[in-house]
Amino acid sequence: MPLVELSRVRRLLVCPRCRSELVAEPDALHCAARDCAYGRTGAFPMVGRWPVLVDFERSVMDRAVVPAEGAGRADSLPAPVRRLVKPPNRVAARNIDLLLRALPGPAPRLLVVGGATIGNGVRAAYRDPRVEVIAFDIVAGPLTQFVADAHQIPLPERSVDAVLVQAVLEHVLEPPTVVSEIHRVLKDDGLVYAETPFLQQVHAGAHDFGRYTVSGHRYLFRRFEELAAGAVAGPGTQLLWSVEHLVRGLTRSANAGRGARVLLCWLRALDRMVPPGFAEDDAAAVFFLGRKSEDAMTPAEIIRYYRGAQ
Ligand SMILES: [Zn+2]
Repeated sequence: MPLVELSRVRRLLVCPRCRSELVAEPDALHCAARDCAYGRTGAFPMVGRWPVLVDFERSVMDRAVVPAEGAGRADSLPAPVRRLVKPPNRVAARNIDLLLRALPGPAPRLLVVGGATIGNGVRAAYRDPRVEVIAFDIVAGPLTQFVADAHQIPLPERSVDAVLVQAVLEHVLEPPTVVSEIHRVLKDDGLVYAETPFLQQVHAGAHDFGRYTVSGHRYLFRRFEELAAGAVAGPGTQLLWSVEHLVRGLTRSANAGRGARVLLCWLRALDRMVPPGFAEDDAAAVFFLGRKSEDAMTPAEIIRYYRGAQ
């Protein structure tokens, strides 16, 4: 797995508040700028080997509580059941293949925002020996090199060739700020791949804030040229999840909901019979693959952009 060594990533890292260089201490780091709020000794703690580069005054993260990532529930299930509960994301796999083909140079740098776990369908990005993967999340874990908040990415501008942000933007308070940060850290002509929920129930409890239509998602990435966009999963998947949550609510039992989901998993196959325009109007999640641009889409252009079935 081509995760870049932490020692090599450390050279790239900057202060999340002012983007000055960092000064390493035995068990912490601080900002090299004397007038920065994080310029004092011990300003950025370490959790294990992970530097925690968070501007705590401006983040939902609590300085005293930076949890380590544990194994997810789906990962602990036997493989056949796991495939029923969480089938392979073929749309992501296809788009990651497009992204990897479009990446330039001998050692392109891919930044994974929210990389504590490997997302569904994106494993090829971690297997490509050419690609150098840098990853962070708000939790420490074996698949990341540092802890950070995506609203203030502690990397210099134009420092990565591509960004992967899958199932993350619903968990941030200000998605336009996060996308602006992604735009900033990308090199000119850098690539982004994003997947974000549209018609989906609340997940991750207190940390779920938003949803996007295909058009809304496109406008969120308005300073990017579109290479591909559309629905990740359509109305069949959306109906399956709705039934799961209806059963969960009626029985007050998450396990009963999951049982209904396994029994009715065939609903997902109906997605294949729905044309793209209809699927986009009723998508469970949407995707965008784009290239960094200095031109922004205008409000008039986003109205003309709509490709749904209405
Ligand atoms: Zn600073």
